[in-house]
Amino acid sequence: MPYHAPVDDFSFLFDHVVDFAQVQATERFSEATSDVTQAILTEAGKLCDEVLAPLQRPGDLHPARLENGVVRTSPGYADGWKAIAEGGWVGIAADPEFGGMGLPMTLTSAVNEMMSGACLSLQLAPLMSQGQIEALEHHASDEIKALYLPKLIAGEWTGTMNLTEPQAGSDVGALSTKAEDQGDGTYAITGQKIYISWGDHDVAENVCHLVLARLPGAPAGTRGISLFLVPKFIPNEDGSLGKANGVKVVSLEHKIGLHGSPTAVMQYDGATGWLVGPEQGGMAAMFTMMNNARLGVGGQGIGVAEGAYQHALAYAQERKQGKTAVDGGTGTILDHADVRRMLMTMKADIFAARAIALSCAMAIDMAHATGAAEWEARAAFLTPIAKAFGTETGMDVAETGVQVHGGMGFIEETGAAQFSRDVRVTAIYEGTNGIQAMDLVARKMMDGGEAAARLLDEIEACAEEARSLLPDLAEPVWQASESLREVTEWLVAQQDMTTRFAGAVPYLRAFARVLGGYLHLKAALADQGGAREALARFYIRRLLPEHVGLLAHAQAGAEGLYSLSPDELAA
Ligand SMILES: Cc1cc2nc3c(=O)[nH]c(=O)nc-3n(C[C@H](O)[C@H](O)[C@H](O)COP(=O)(O)OP(=O)(O)OC[C@H]3O[C@@H](n4cnc5c(N)ncnc54)[C@H](O)[C@@H]3O)c2cc1C
Repeated sequence: MPYHAPVDDFSFLFDHVVDFAQVQATERFSEATSDVTQAILTEAGKLCDEVLAPLQRPGDLHPARLENGVVRTSPGYADGWKAIAEGGWVGIAADPEFGGMGLPMTLTSAVNEMMSGACLSLQLAPLMSQGQIEALEHHASDEIKALYLPKLIAGEWTGTMNLTEPQAGSDVGALSTKAEDQGDGTYAITGQKIYISWGDHDVAENVCHLVLARLPGAPAGTRGISLFLVPKFIPNEDGSLGKANGVKVVSLEHKIGLHGSPTAVMQYDGATGWLVGPEQGGMAAMFTMMNNARLGVGGQGIGVAEGAYQHALAYAQERKQGKTAVDGGTGTILDHADVRRMLMTMKADIFAARAIALSCAMAIDMAHATGAAEWEARAAFLTPIAKAFGTETGMDVAETGVQVHGGMGFIEETGAAQFSRDVRVTAIYEGTNGIQAMDLVARKMMDGGEAAARLLDEIEACAEEARSLLPDLAEPVWQASESLREVTEWLVAQQDMTTRFAGAVPYLRAFARVLGGYLHLKAALADQGGAREALARFYIRRLLPEHVGLLAHAQAGAEGLYSLSPDELAA
């Protein structure tokens, strides 16, 4: 079943919901005119529909494999990568000084989401490279930038991120990979990293690993971590490839989905690495990459949701089963109220998640363009929400897509299940969604809830304005925002972090629900009497009320969570 990139939805969101004009009005992004933006979206859409989408099933059926120490990728992936690289899509947001397009993150996020919807396994490769490019732009020496960035941006080389070790997953500070100064400006890196996405492959000539490791005598925990760039082949000064480095793939993981993406166990045996950022400044440098990747992973969830929705809708339009009394019915399962409920929920949630992700990307652009602390705080606040809600939407929509297919959803040939299997990991990697929620209620509220309050003010101002035009939509959004404000103030007042953490996941989802209501309201205002108002009404009447239960859950704190002993849990 073909995938059709949702270019029109993005154009509408840019123009009417996320105020992309503000980004275009800045000096930094003045070249991202409406014509350029539309051309980029259209071109990327074509790449997704024509080149990447046909690679989604082959990747699932013919996973990447390890042969004599070298990873062979799924059929067609090398050509797919070439199309991504030659189109300039790896370096879409990268610095033009090194060959990038320098375009805003808002546009990058849209393109990345469309690529994820077309072929998630392959899209993870440019996403990893983009994160590495951004980390090097901010933290690497001029020599490293000059040597590596043009190659990474052109897609001749690819990038990975190496944090995870068997004993160091969510707790990155527990890592034990070692780095030793070799006295010649390089470091010897020794240790094992697991689950490394695109850790090796045959689609480009070099693989550049960003590796977190600890220097001798460095303090325990995250404070003692440094970041190193470790290429598979050590480049000569002119960028040609030199000798192989001391890094190899030990094995590839057998996963429930995302089969086209090689997930590698990497062994570093005194591999030559170069320091990126200051010694023991590794986490700060890696966070540049991780924040980029978190928004990107949220977009992966939404992209897969879009693919799953299109798949389910196409099936529903064909499948005949049972009769309904609906006037002017199609004679297919599309006429059934419950099937409509599923499809409307899928569509409404995709719109909400997409609008939240773009709002986050837009805040990142405004922070870059203006340096204003308020935009930075907004981007930081929205990042965990965009990541967690985007990926939850991916899982929920893909799961509902299986249900729309009935028994055929459980049969692999239809492809409905692949969306569900592929997207599952997005809630796990780049910091599990639980860790995202903890970040939201702890670090992102160290400002006493200011960033949250500013967003709520904006929501309520919009709802006030909409009262005369769309009162039945404006009032519930305003009410929901007020309830969220009360719980936010309560949360900020809790000094006991276990109390905050216990309700973090429902709180994050409640925030996303309310933001979704606000962004749907904006869409309805721009399309009064149209399909977008109808979709907003569905969301606000039927999905937004979920926030009430979520907020009650969040406010219950840790009470009762530990009331069963470990033995009683097992009884
Ligand atoms: C397909 C795939 C690709 C990946 N790609 C990469 C990659 O390219 N590079 C890389 O470095 N890593 C990668 N990872 C690793 C991934 O980021 C980790 O799996 C993830 O961070 C979770 O770590 P863990 O698996 O050790 O789970 P754990 O940390 O053991 O977590 C288990 C559970 O406990 C919870 N938990 C853990 N600590 C806390 C806490 N303090 N508070 C509350 N709850 C907690 C978690 O939320 C989770 O539910 C990948 C993983 C997979 C599966």
